[in-house]
Amino acid sequence: MAPTNRITNPDGSFRCFQMDEDVFTKLSNNDGGICTDCGETASNVESDARKYRCAACGAHRVYGAELLLVAGRIEFLDECGSAITEDDDA
Ligand SMILES: [Zn+2]
Repeated sequence: MAPTNRITNPDGSFRCFQMDEDVFTKLSNNDGGICTDCGETASNVESDARKYRCAACGAHRVYGAELLLVAGRIEFLDECGSAITEDDDA
């Protein structure tokens, strides 16, 4: 089970991941990435990796953690479990 919550757009396409900030920090510090197709985390991924193959689902959708953050595809959760965003369009 990936320690992330994969959020999709109404049409089912990938929107972002929600996770605790310390989960992200561990990912980032360990050359981690995340598959935007299934949400599984990957290791030994460069921070700016793009379209690496996912070991879990086989899709070439693994992106480096830092790249996802810069792209605005990661939202951090506070201790209550709600997302902290400045521009939530909900
Ligand atoms: Zn995958």
